[in-house]
Amino acid sequence: MTSNSFSFSDALLQWFDKHGRKNLPWQQNKTPYSVWISEIMLQQTQVATVIPYYTTFMQRFPTVNDLANAPVDEVLHLWTGLGYYARARNMHRAAQKVRDEHHGQFPQTYDEVIALSGIGRSTAAAILSLSLNQAFAIMDGNVKRVLTRFMAIEGWPGNKKIEDLLWQEAEALKPQAKNGRYGDYTQAIMDLGATVCTRSKPKCDECPMQSHCLAYAQGKQTEFPFKKPKKQIPTKYTTMLLPSYQGQLLMQQRPTSGIWGGLWGFLETGFNESEQVTLDEAKILLRDKLKSVELANSNVIELETFKHTFSHFHLVITPILLELEQPPLSSVAETLPLDNNQVPAQLWYDMHQPSKIGLSAPTIKILNHLKTNF
Ligand code: SF4
Repeated sequence: MTSNSFSFSDALLQWFDKHGRKNLPWQQNKTPYSVWISEIMLQQTQVATVIPYYTTFMQRFPTVNDLANAPVDEVLHLWTGLGYYARARNMHRAAQKVRDEHHGQFPQTYDEVIALSGIGRSTAAAILSLSLNQAFAIMDGNVKRVLTRFMAIEGWPGNKKIEDLLWQEAEALKPQAKNGRYGDYTQAIMDLGATVCTRSKPKCDECPMQSHCLAYAQGKQTEFPFKKPKKQIPTKYTTMLLPSYQGQLLMQQRPTSGIWGGLWGFLETGFNESEQVTLDEAKILLRDKLKSVELANSNVIELETFKHTFSHFHLVITPILLELEQPPLSSVAETLPLDNNQVPAQLWYDMHQPSKIGLSAPTIKILNHLKTNF
């Protein structure tokens, strides 16, 4: 793998002493608590974005008990803008566990730390190595990039086998001496990934690993890490009927569970595996839901078909506008309670005075189209 005379950790630490980041707010007066907060904030978020949030957060919650005793709404409020709010909720839950089960002292063993909400193997390792110099390797996005390039490891790092291999290599490359600089090493490998071995234009000429980096030797730096293989997802079809009368459109609420749970949308024929259904078929399928509407003389306008993509399938949507020439037979304006998912609530949605209801994304798209074109 590497020549005997080359030590990855020594080279990295030498580089870190000269070029590593040492002035970040969470690097001052480090404690497991402060490192924990910063590590959670830094997940999926850039350092520059995190700094002001971290500062405000630590001013308001200087100890884990302050965080535990705060209302979760306040924690979420201070998190507003950072995204991925489950992080903040987990953090609050974890702080309460520390208060209740560890007398307000952030735990210092791996097993206790990883038992806290929102803390996985790499975060636990980062907290313990950075704040207490314990001998743990980490595996965040930066480390994955550096290691897959350094060793030209093929395959998507999210794949279990590749992930196991990366952990194995990370453990082997970290300092092995009994009282090694584990904390500095952890910071160093994150810094190298963030500032030198960057995603699109790695600065290999400034890298202490260049002479032993396999991706560099092959001129394939940016091919690593391998991307997640794209999976083929199926296409489904639906027809949406939009009975409309003088700017009002018939809508109904989705069941609370499943796709677009509890949101409002147009009457639709269900998601078919094959082609679109015809207008007549759609009317038959939706007969019960259309009871209150006299469609006989409606002006039929087929709107542009469009595709909406979910994580597991594409949905091709054909909206059909049915402009009624006379008002609906009966009023369905009063909404029915959505309790047992059996009787979907319906309402006439007024495009000029919109009700304050949650709309699914395709519904918003169709409404925008109608506003501009009709
Ligand atoms: S030589 Fe280039 S690709 Fe290899 S670890 Fe350094 S910066 Fe990354």
